[in-house]
Amino acid sequence: MLSARATVMRDLEATGAASAETVSLLEDAVAERRWWAEQWPAGEAYVGGLVAQDLQDALLQRVGRWPVCPRCDDAVHALYIHPELGGPDPVWVCEESGTVVAPLGGLTGGLTGGA
Ligand SMILES: [Zn+2]
Repeated sequence: MLSARATVMRDLEATGAASAETVSLLEDAVAERRWWAEQWPAGEAYVGGLVAQDLQDALLQRVGRWPVCPRCDDAVHALYIHPELGGPDPVWVCEESGTVVAPLGGLTGGLTGGA
């Protein structure tokens, strides 16, 4: 769980979206998935992606889309986690073009969360 938290935290920081509020939402997502991961140790490969998806949902309600696609110049749109189950080997995919942008935890700077 610590690695899931650290992985998603890296993406929050890389996109400039890390703040007291977003980190607290991340903590909530990690806490909610912790029980689940303890019941099913083989699900560890999915936890990072699931935490990222939970965080996306929480941010969408309070802050706005995260993370915003860095590839396309047109309308602002978000990335989503693929595979949808959260893993294994979760990657961020552009919801418009369907292209893989980065592995989870591998987003690079210059992205800002669009509200
Ligand atoms: Zn895009």
